[in-house]
Amino acid sequence: MTEIPPQGLIRRWSTLGVSPSDSEDLRLKKAVMTIVSTSIAFMAVFWGGLYLYSGYPVAGAIPLSYSVISFGSTLHFFKTKRFAFFCFSQQLLILLLPFLLMWSLGGFANGSVVMIWAFFAPLAALFFIDLKAASRWMLAFLGLLILSAVFDQTLAAHARPMTAGLNTLYFFMNTGVGFILIGMMLYYFVKDRESAYQKLQQNEAHIREQMLTDPLTGVANRRYLDERLSMELARQARYDQPLSVIMTDIDWFKRVNDFYGHATGDTVLKLFAERLKDMLRTSDFMARYGGEEFVLLLPQTGIDEAVALAERLREATKRIRFDNPDLKLTASFGVTVAHSGEGMAEVLSRADEAMYQSKSGGRDRVSMLLD
Ligand code: GH3
Ligand code: MG
Ligand code: MG
Repeated sequence: MTEIPPQGLIRRWSTLGVSPSDSEDLRLKKAVMTIVSTSIAFMAVFWGGLYLYSGYPVAGAIPLSYSVISFGSTLHFFKTKRFAFFCFSQQLLILLLPFLLMWSLGGFANGSVVMIWAFFAPLAALFFIDLKAASRWMLAFLGLLILSAVFDQTLAAHARPMTAGLNTLYFFMNTGVGFILIGMMLYYFVKDRESAYQKLQQNEAHIREQMLTDPLTGVANRRYLDERLSMELARQARYDQPLSVIMTDIDWFKRVNDFYGHATGDTVLKLFAERLKDMLRTSDFMARYGGEEFVLLLPQTGIDEAVALAERLREATKRIRFDNPDLKLTASFGVTVAHSGEGMAEVLSRADEAMYQSKSGGRDRVSMLLD
């Protein structure tokens, strides 16, 4: 989860509305919403004081009242944990504050610099609720803006003009702090989306891996073999590079199960797969084709090289040592090479045929079949 930078008191404050059952996503939202609304409430005290000091008592009273109500709404949220209501009331407050302030200052001419605060309502709706809610707050904003325009002449007539210096000061304060707060919300929003997206991608990769690997031996399963073989065949057809295929099947495997038990059979399968896999290049591909049958794809490998590899694998199989010293393992191999434009089934059945030649020839051997 994304950490909230302020530590200690502020951090503890930001988590007061969190319930133990909340998701990480909701915790983050609650924390950001609490920090942002409390920051604005604190700043409003300062803003109100400044208006009072500058000789605008009504304009000063509005932010001060805002602070009291906003603070009360936050405490209410901590007590009741009603987050939706908290979001709604905070957005209503932050939408009304700048308009009331602007009206009290005499309309657009004097007070439009406070309008940046009104953007918080639709923005917060976008972050914490959804696009529909954001649009609704945007409409409310536009409605109030039109209302302001209608009464602008009247308001301006009663206003005490603000000096250029004060206007500039308020402009910088409002836009500066407003942008910092908007930036803060955007930052957490983007971070939140990024981490959600990363999690999604990790999950997807994990599921795909589970879908494509054989749980016992950890090598690719038949589904993955289909995917890879069709890709390699397409590549072979396109670049005219040889693709060799080896099919192998453990000899007398039924006996292993019968004599030593199914658990030992599983271990034997695992060790056999591991040994073969270790001897392949990274560009080679190995899949469990059936019970104790494996298929190896060797891209950019001609038939002679493939037969030589199969010989080495056959030798290596005999050298595998098991916990039980009586247990000896051999396997039969069939080697073939894919022809240009050939389909998956044809290549595999030829490799299978070659492998059965090894079986009928006495097992523990390598046979090859070109057509
Ligand atoms: P051959 O030399 O003709 O290949 O004889 P075989 O006994 O190896 O051949 P067969 O196909 O008759 O036997 C394969 C056996 O493999 C049958 C099945 O019980 C066993 N087997 C298949 N999958 C697994 C597995 O995941 N674990 C274990 N322990 N045995 C398996
Ligand atoms: Mg067998
Ligand atoms: Mg078999």
